[in-house]
Amino acid sequence: MNVKLTPNSRLVLEKRYLKKDQDKLLETPEDMFYRVAQVVAGVEERYGKRNTEIQSLTKAFYNLMANLEFMPNSPTLMNAGRDLGQLSACFVLPVEDSMEGIFDAIKNAAIIHKSGGGTGFSFSRLRPKNSTVRSTGGVASGPVSFMKVFNAATEAVKQGGTRRGANLGLLRVDHPDILEFIACKENNHEMTNFNISVGITREFMRALQEDKPYHLREPHTGSVVAQLSASEVFDKMMEHAWLNGEPGVVFLDAMNDGNPTPNVGEIETCNPCGEQPLLPNEACNLGSINLKLMVTKEGDGVGIDWERLRRVTRLAVHFLDNVIDANQYPLPDIEKTTKANRKIGLGVMGFADMLTILKLSYASEEAVQVAKKIMSFIQEEARKESERLAAERGVFPNYVGSIYEGVRKLRNATLTTIAPTGTISMICGVSSGVEPLFAVAYTKTVMDGTSLIEVNPTFENLAKDYGFYSEELMQNVVKQGTVRGLNDVPNWVQKIFITAQEIDPEWHVKIQAAFQTFTDNAVSKTINFPHTATKEEIAKAYLLAYELGCKGLTVYRDGSREEQVVTTGTTK
Ligand code: UDP
Repeated sequence: MNVKLTPNSRLVLEKRYLKKDQDKLLETPEDMFYRVAQVVAGVEERYGKRNTEIQSLTKAFYNLMANLEFMPNSPTLMNAGRDLGQLSACFVLPVEDSMEGIFDAIKNAAIIHKSGGGTGFSFSRLRPKNSTVRSTGGVASGPVSFMKVFNAATEAVKQGGTRRGANLGLLRVDHPDILEFIACKENNHEMTNFNISVGITREFMRALQEDKPYHLREPHTGSVVAQLSASEVFDKMMEHAWLNGEPGVVFLDAMNDGNPTPNVGEIETCNPCGEQPLLPNEACNLGSINLKLMVTKEGDGVGIDWERLRRVTRLAVHFLDNVIDANQYPLPDIEKTTKANRKIGLGVMGFADMLTILKLSYASEEAVQVAKKIMSFIQEEARKESERLAAERGVFPNYVGSIYEGVRKLRNATLTTIAPTGTISMICGVSSGVEPLFAVAYTKTVMDGTSLIEVNPTFENLAKDYGFYSEELMQNVVKQGTVRGLNDVPNWVQKIFITAQEIDPEWHVKIQAAFQTFTDNAVSKTINFPHTATKEEIAKAYLLAYELGCKGLTVYRDGSREEQVVTTGTTK
């Protein structure tokens, strides 16, 4: 079967995913999907499956990817059946408060980055700046100065790796060095290999609501060492988020409320893009369903193809559970924790594209309802498949004592995650994750700086169907990036093709919250603001996200960093 890929998608695959010898390609995209399907289905042997069964599963997994219905995260596509064999995108590593602990973490991160995984750290255990170091009698340099060492190590490894090593650095809001941390990316050229997030606690949010001070604590003993005004700290966070989008926030209590194995450990942080809370030394492999394909004719119009969505969800869970066994883990501790919880993260991409086909605006209550319906359906079908796998292969080893004990026998401690799908959405030629459209036509800079112009195909088709297509109009759309205010485009079409910055931030947050309600892990989403947005507007989005039960928030104000991956129009 020939895979239908856009030229852009082929380019991405050829550059980084397909086997190569120097510049000579050694496989086609079809070969790649087959390589992955074979490895992932191959583990069934250890569950006593016969050859014929394994072959038919290989075919089913191949079709799932070749039809672009589902795509596993990039490391699975890149590394399955090859020397590295490391298949997960997300890792969390512990950072203990000792020289050995700190440098172990740096070394382990380097090993993970080499294989295309991203690492999340909590630096909250490190003693604050200027506290004493017993063995030397000197003073500690504090979390931020050590983060610079992590950053430099990542920079060096980046050169040889399959993709950019990404890090998330988190510091709890009650760590004594929190103000230095909030400002540590003030300069756009520093800490370039880190996303930073403040770990927010309920205690802090309460103090903020009551406009009171909150306590800073010594990380080892938990004893109170100072206090700060919650609103002043929040204000500092907003000032910096306004300046260049950082820090983001992680709502630690919401993450721990969703921790399926609180008896095993506490969630201290998550992976680089925020979608995957994990225990220290835990990894998770992700995969996403292409929602653009989950639509079908319904009477005169179109509707959601629930049967197809069910089939794809079931098969995708089976696939991702197998990946846990097929994976070659970078470290024994990671293998142990990961196989004890067997977390997987099935999510979606192409949500915005699906909305345009359903003729719905992202900024609408209907879109929020569609988000809830789809994700609750996926979550439930995913759990059913996990139950089926548990009956066949056993529950996850940490099941006893987990939140599922006596409730539901599952094979996997978590099932759902909404990933950013930065590259796999490009491979499928659809909008990323649950983000809105960034532009109706745009110039995209890919990996090596090559520029490509694309007009949204659903828009182009609709323009032809409704008779307002013209070359001149398309030129204008490319120039402007959006369709708002273009006289030739009917009002109702302008609403459907609304883009990220035209959408009121409140709708961004509502959509994130709608998906979060039915997602075991977290949702990767950036709340986009126009360049003119104020600090107060950004603060409002953070507070709404907390209120609606989101597990974190990332914001971005247009033009606030020099380098942007996606720019609208052709002039930038
Ligand atoms: N990631 C990374 N480096 C990158 C892109 C992604 O380490 O350059 C990791 C990171 O943990 C992120 C996760 O992969 O949260 C998933 O990212 P995404 O969905 O964009 O990956 P894709 O599978 O589309 O490549």
